[in-house]
Amino acid sequence: MDFAYSDKTNDLRARVADFFEAHILPRNKQFQQEVDQGIFPLSFLGDLKALAKSEGLWNLFLPHLREDEPGTRLTNMEYAPLAEIMGRLPWASEVFNCSAPDTGNMELLHMFGTDSQKERWLKPLLNGEIRSCFAMTEPDVASSDATNVTTMIRRDGDEYVINGRKWFITGAGNPSCKIALVMGKTDINADRHRQQSVVLVPMNTPGMKVTRNIAVMNHHSYETHCEIVFEECRIPVDQILGEEGGGFAMAQARLGPGRIHHCMRSIGQAELALEMMTERALERKTFGKYLHEQGSIQEKIAHSRCEIEQARLLVLKAAWMIDHSDAKTARNEIAMIKVVVPNMQQRVIDRAMQVFGAMGLSPDTPLPDLWTMARSLRIADGPDEVHLRSIARGQIKAAQQGDRKTILYFTPPDRSQEVSIRDDQK
Ligand SMILES: Cc1cc2nc3c(=O)[nH]c(=O)nc-3n(C[C@H](O)[C@H](O)[C@H](O)COP(=O)(O)OP(=O)(O)OC[C@H]3O[C@@H](n4cnc5c(N)ncnc54)[C@H](O)[C@@H]3O)c2cc1C
Repeated sequence: MDFAYSDKTNDLRARVADFFEAHILPRNKQFQQEVDQGIFPLSFLGDLKALAKSEGLWNLFLPHLREDEPGTRLTNMEYAPLAEIMGRLPWASEVFNCSAPDTGNMELLHMFGTDSQKERWLKPLLNGEIRSCFAMTEPDVASSDATNVTTMIRRDGDEYVINGRKWFITGAGNPSCKIALVMGKTDINADRHRQQSVVLVPMNTPGMKVTRNIAVMNHHSYETHCEIVFEECRIPVDQILGEEGGGFAMAQARLGPGRIHHCMRSIGQAELALEMMTERALERKTFGKYLHEQGSIQEKIAHSRCEIEQARLLVLKAAWMIDHSDAKTARNEIAMIKVVVPNMQQRVIDRAMQVFGAMGLSPDTPLPDLWTMARSLRIADGPDEVHLRSIARGQIKAAQQGDRKTILYFTPPDRSQEVSIRDDQK
């Protein structure tokens, strides 16, 4: 495995970083003001997207685009360092048409969509004209186990009729979001993993209602995380994605590269927090010394540096494995980064908050927002425990199937002639 960035990657890194500094970072204050005023979507986003597209910095995430589809066809390895740069601001990836949940949805439509579904939904998504959401999680069942979903997708002649309730659906409150990929059950008598299907539901379909935007840690995010109710919501049967019963497998497929993208952006956020922590330590003085001269602060900086490097290498390994085989082969590595990266990100940002003192908890720095995102990622896309479970299962299965040779390293005492080591027992 070679994780060195190629000349092509380094060239793209420089171009994305220059674009970010020239056009995105200077707009961040305006972003905050517009979000505070409830201006939605952002007034300047369209212009920035057009500029990024004209510079060829567009759809950087999709390796398997066709020649006639707009984008760069980068590998996951090539995309990783670019996503890191975009991750430094929560809204930046949208400028390059690389933001969740659209990326995962575009991948699904690309893999499973019919020609007419692609024309109607994938094309405008690839062009950045509309946005999308993915609706799987439900308030009433433990949704980390996707087989639990209770939303029903009942066939009635040429239509499917949807009934159910979803929540935490990212992007559903965005007026640009025009399509929901909804997971529900089409056959409750089928095998556990064949009961679910994914259907394409236009956001203006009668019977579908976005009822609230849920705050995360009491914080309403710009992207929105919404509750949606479906009551006798009807769509034509040709709006099923892939085949009936294929929904569970699709949800798994969707999360493969999608998790990688989140992790790459998280590394960018951890880097930003470390840079902030270090610069603050250079400026602030307590008890006659600069913070950077205090050993405990140096440890915070050093641990953060080590942990970011470790996490990045694991993400690159997962990206390399997807590129050289597929997401299924890289399943273990994907599960590992999903645990390692958000936990690392949360620790590094937490240290930065500590070094900043009270200011680190105030809205005057991006740290509270970054921390909230890190904390959310330990639940979104599956809680830590679920990924740890699958990593442990892989390890245990390998041991069960192996020839169990670790006994060869044991040096047990000879118990055939045991005597007491106490004098009073001689
Ligand atoms: C910010 C944010 C954005 C989100 N965006 C979306 C979205 O766009 N679309 C969507 O469909 N969903 C989305 N979600 C929902 C997310 O995917 C779910 O919250 C997640 O899958 C967990 O499901 P749950 O909340 O029902 O928790 P539950 O399944 O009820 O799990 C609760 C807890 O139980 C424990 N647990 C679960 N399984 C195990 C196990 N096997 N072993 C040990 N402990 C376990 C864990 O501690 C877990 O946190 C989002 C969530 C957040 C926070």
